[in-house]
Amino acid sequence: QRPVPNATAESVQAAVRQDARTHAPEAYEDLAAYRAAGGYRMLTECVSGERDVESVLQAMEASGLRGLGGAGFPAGRKWRIVRAEAAPRLMAVNIDEGEPGTFKDRHYLERSPHRFLEGLLIAAWAVGIERVFVYLRDEYHGCRALLERELAALRAEPPMADLPTIELRRGAGAYICGEESAMIESIEGKRGMPRLRPPYVAQVGLFGRPTLEHNFETLYWVPEILERGADWFAAQGRHGRKGLRSFSVSGRVREPGVKLAPAGITLRELVDEYCGGLPEGHRLYGYLPGGASGGILPASLADVPLDFDTLQPHGCFIGSAAVVVLSESDAHRDRAIDVARNLMAFFEHESCGQCTPCRSGTAKTRELIAGERWDRELLADLSQVMRDASICGLGQAAPNPVDCVMRYFPHELAGEGASA
Ligand code: SF4
Repeated sequence: QRPVPNATAESVQAAVRQDARTHAPEAYEDLAAYRAAGGYRMLTECVSGERDVESVLQAMEASGLRGLGGAGFPAGRKWRIVRAEAAPRLMAVNIDEGEPGTFKDRHYLERSPHRFLEGLLIAAWAVGIERVFVYLRDEYHGCRALLERELAALRAEPPMADLPTIELRRGAGAYICGEESAMIESIEGKRGMPRLRPPYVAQVGLFGRPTLEHNFETLYWVPEILERGADWFAAQGRHGRKGLRSFSVSGRVREPGVKLAPAGITLRELVDEYCGGLPEGHRLYGYLPGGASGGILPASLADVPLDFDTLQPHGCFIGSAAVVVLSESDAHRDRAIDVARNLMAFFEHESCGQCTPCRSGTAKTRELIAGERWDRELLADLSQVMRDASICGLGQAAPNPVDCVMRYFPHELAGEGASA
C-alpha cells in the first residue's frame, strides 16, 4: 500500500482506485507492520534534516489539503499561522466524529493508526508543538484501547528524539464538542461551549496558548502527500476540484461505507461508481451531502460537484462529507420534511444554550415545522436571525434542512404546488 516513488500518473491513478476499494490497509497495521511498509520514513527525513520545515510547509500549501472535519480551512496556511505565534504552542486533535452519518475517522483509525500518528508528529515538528491533546469520542471504546496500545508502543521505540507529549482525552457525547473552541473548553475540563472569536484558536487556544487544531483525517493524509508529492494530491480532483475526499455513504445504496473518491465528484457518480448504485427498484429522491447540518438536496441536483464551496449556491455544504441517500420508495414515510423535523429536534437537543438565536431558534423552529402547513415567512425570518446572530456553526447551519424543504421539496408541504 505504500506509495511508489516516481510513479507514473497512470500507476498513481490505479493506486488511488485500489485505495478507493480498500480505503486503507486490508489487515490492521500495528507499529511493526507500519514500519516494515516504510512507515515513519517521512518523519525521519524531516527530523534528520533531509527535509526542512519551509519545504514541508510549501508542500502542504501546494497540495490544497483542507481541514477535513468540515470547516475546510487550508491546512498548510494554518500550520504557518500557528508557527508564527510565540511558543509554547499546543495541538488539539479532533476525533469526536459526532456529525450524524460520519464514520470515516474511525474507519481509518481502526486500520492504520500510525499513519495518523506519523502525520500528527510531522505537523508537531513543522509547527514546533510541545504537547498534543487527542480528543476521542467516548463511544469509540475500541479506538481508545487501540490508540493507548499503539502510543505505548511508539513511546517504547520513539521515531524521533524529542517525542512531544501526547495525551488522550475522552469526549462525553456532546455534538457541540466537535466545534473546535468547544472542544478546547472541554479538554480544559470546562463545559463544552464555543468561544467568541477573535481571538482565534491559532492565537489563543488551549490553556491560553497558540493551538494547532486538526481533524483526524487531515493529519492522516500528511505522510502520503509528502511522499507522493503535493501535485499528486492536488491532481486527484474531478470537475475542476483538487484532492481526495473520504465520503461516509449511508442510506439507500447497494454498498454503503467509506468511499475514497476525487473531490468534486457528483452524487450520481459517487453512487454509481463507488456504491454499486441504488438497490433494485429504488430511484433517487434526494440526499444529504454533509450530515445533519449540510442541508438536503433533491435528485434534480445529483450532478453538482461535491466539495467545499460548490454547494453554497444551493444552500448546502459538504462538511465532513457524510452523504445520506434517500430513495423515492421511502418518500411516503421518510420524506424530506421528516428528515428536517428529526434534524431540528437533534439541533435543539445539542444546542449548548449559550446564545438565544440558537437556543430559542431551534426550539421555535421545531414547533413551527411540526404541522403540515408551514409559515414560510416566519420560518425564513427565524432562519435569517439564526444565521446572522448565532455564535457558532451549530446555530448558523441548523436552519439548512428546513430551508431546503421549502426550496426543493415544497410538494411535501400542505397547500403548496409541485416540486421546484
Ligand atoms: Fe451554543 Fe448554539 Fe450558540 Fe453555538 S450557536 S454557541 S451551540 S447556543
